[in-house]
Amino acid sequence: ANSFDEECDYLFKAILIGDSAVGKSNLLSRFAKDEFSLDSKPTIGVEFAYRNIRVGGKLIKAQIWDTAGQERFRAITSSYYRGALGALLVYDVTRRSTFESLRRWLKELREFGSPEMVVVLVGNKSDLEGSRVVKLEDGRSLAQLEQVSFMETSAKDNLNVEDAFIEMITRIYEITS
Ligand code: GDP
Ligand code: MG
Repeated sequence: ANSFDEECDYLFKAILIGDSAVGKSNLLSRFAKDEFSLDSKPTIGVEFAYRNIRVGGKLIKAQIWDTAGQERFRAITSSYYRGALGALLVYDVTRRSTFESLRRWLKELREFGSPEMVVVLVGNKSDLEGSRVVKLEDGRSLAQLEQVSFMETSAKDNLNVEDAFIEMITRIYEITS
């Protein structure tokens, strides 16, 4: 390990999950690099991104995994979930089918993920208010039912993106420390 890594108190693995094109890769690039792209290019080469966050006086290195598009074929392998302490479960507020898929994603998270995994439900593309089909209240109710945190975000306008990741990382810190 280099000296940079040695300064970190914790290393957390977290994952992004949810249907294709809900904005997972753009949420991650916004959080890790403050970048957004209008093209829907599949993730090329990059398996994960890092960002260091200070929580409760500790320096946490968050390693956040993105899919390379396997979710389109429902072919995410168990190694993607292995060791993950947190997940951002993402849907698109302008596509009802992505909200309806959440039940299946939650089932998969419980099957392959660790039982104490921190899940944050994220309704992305909140900037597209005119095309919205999933109400804020729908997301909130589901989150309450499933006992997970919830936030609506816009990777495009950079709304709540930081908050969603920080919520997940803070909750991981709380359960592991
Ligand atoms: P992924 O398949 O879940 O990784 O989704 P991507 O990050 O590749 O995004 C799919 C498409 O949605 C791309 O065209 C993005 O530019 C667009 N997109 C992602 N996030 C947002 C957002 O917050 N608002 C809007 N308007 N478009 C978004
Ligand atoms: Mg992607």
